[in-house]
Order: sequence, then C-alpha cells, then structure tokens
Amino acid sequence: MARYSLESINEYARRGYAVRVTCQSCGHAVDWNAVSLMRELHRLRASMQIDKVGARMRCSGCGHRGATITPAAADW
Ligand SMILES: [Zn+2]
Repeated sequence: MARYSLESINEYARRGYAVRVTCQSCGHAVDWNAVSLMRELHRLRASMQIDKVGARMRCSGCGHRGATITPAAADW
C-alpha cells in the first residue's frame, strides 16, 4: 500500500481508508470506519492526531492502553 501523509483521522476519512487499531501489548486489531471515528472524536472533543488517538485507545482484549494506528482497506 502506498504511504501517504496520514497524520490525522481526517486524512483517513478523506482518502477512504479504514483505521486499523492494533494493540501494542497483545496485537488485537480492530478496524474502525474513519468517518465514524472522526465523529466520535469530535463529540469527545478529542484530538484527531494519529499518535494521540493511538495513545488513548484501550484494547478490548487485554485492557492495555496504547495502540498503533495504520490504514486498512475499507470494505463497506
Ligand atoms: Zn491488547
């Protein structure tokens, strides 16, 4: 996959990518709809910056806080 400048959730939404959130502890991965995630962050008045979003994500598998965010193909 080509690497773009994907520094915020807005970029993912605009380019049509899903947001893959991978736990840094157990590797559990979840794909988010970028538009849904953007709306949720907006509602929470949270940062759209990828590193900040990753830092606040809590794993639903192991409860670890801190995830790596990468683009994934959107299949909806
Ligand atoms: Zn985990």
